[in-house]
Amino acid sequence: MTDSASCEPLLEVRQDTDNSLSSPNDNESSSVDDSQENTSSGCSSSSTTSSTKDEEKQKYFTHKLPEQPCFFFIPHKEWRKLRKTQQKRQFKSLHWTNVIAKGIRSVHPHCSFGFKRHSVKMIGSMTKKPLFTCTGYCRFDDCQVKVNVKVESESSLKAVVCFQGGIVRHSLQQLRRRPIRAEERQLIADTLSSKLPRTVYLQSLNKLEETVLQSGCRDEVPTTGVLKTLSWGEREKQRRHENEMVSLQLMSEDVQDKDDQWIQKVILQPKGVMLWSKRTIRLFHDRSKEDIVYLDATGSIVKKAKGESTPFYIYELVVRNPIKGCSPVPVATYVTCEHTTASITYFLGSFITDCQTTWAKNSQKTSYVTL
Ligand SMILES: [Zn+2]
Repeated sequence: MTDSASCEPLLEVRQDTDNSLSSPNDNESSSVDDSQENTSSGCSSSSTTSSTKDEEKQKYFTHKLPEQPCFFFIPHKEWRKLRKTQQKRQFKSLHWTNVIAKGIRSVHPHCSFGFKRHSVKMIGSMTKKPLFTCTGYCRFDDCQVKVNVKVESESSLKAVVCFQGGIVRHSLQQLRRRPIRAEERQLIADTLSSKLPRTVYLQSLNKLEETVLQSGCRDEVPTTGVLKTLSWGEREKQRRHENEMVSLQLMSEDVQDKDDQWIQKVILQPKGVMLWSKRTIRLFHDRSKEDIVYLDATGSIVKKAKGESTPFYIYELVVRNPIKGCSPVPVATYVTCEHTTASITYFLGSFITDCQTTWAKNSQKTSYVTL
């Protein structure tokens, strides 16, 4: 009955790339495989008939490259940050790839670029070389587009972009996205502190322009799997103690005797936690007078704990929402890996005892639990 219990992420049927989070030390140039880039050109010949043109349309997304020359400006704040990571003629952090890829997307959002090499002028250098240059390639198998970015002036930070390769050509079966790297990971993790991964995914997808959606470029739409990993990592950082059960107990002590105390019992062996609050007790009291109360169980939400042989299930006591048409409301939740009658009876008994303590005689007249 929880928000994410029955919600499968919207799946895109195209073939997706491995979108695992890359470590800050990953080198994009190491993944470049020139032979792979050249093997799948498959461009249509000049004698293409109308039927083969139709076939091409059914198999590939094609788009013109933007009018050239085109340019974007690197924000000074970002440039100062990058300079701090500079070692000789290179930026040590891969955050530069985020900054440049974002700039390129502002003039050409259809290709997903990986970068081969870059060069930065050293501070104080008197050479006439550009301040910054880099080259990149489109990650789609059938796309021959390459990019070159050149920045001449440190005062304007105007980045001139030059594309090669003729035309954008992406298989309609493919999706490509850049890995989430360096500072971008924290930015997304911050967003996930207040939103579900699936919500962030759908919102990002909805923001895409129609042609970008068709192109298969998903640079700005991380997969739900990646978002879940980032979200989990962020929550882990906020834990009060490295042991999750001790952490739960500390959280429980923090809100003890407060109206919004929601952690009621933390059970160490087998691991379990019971959740409800005075507010949900009031709701249960009101609804159970006149309506049915459901007990629901859901699996596959909490991973199996180390050393435990049975999976975690979430048991929830649910009432119908007092507002017609709105989702049912869980009034008491029990996360446990012990699925016995005794365990569930203990959960329900604990909840009813709390209800009776809160509502004294009234609740004894209105709340019945039969097993
Ligand atoms: Zn492309």
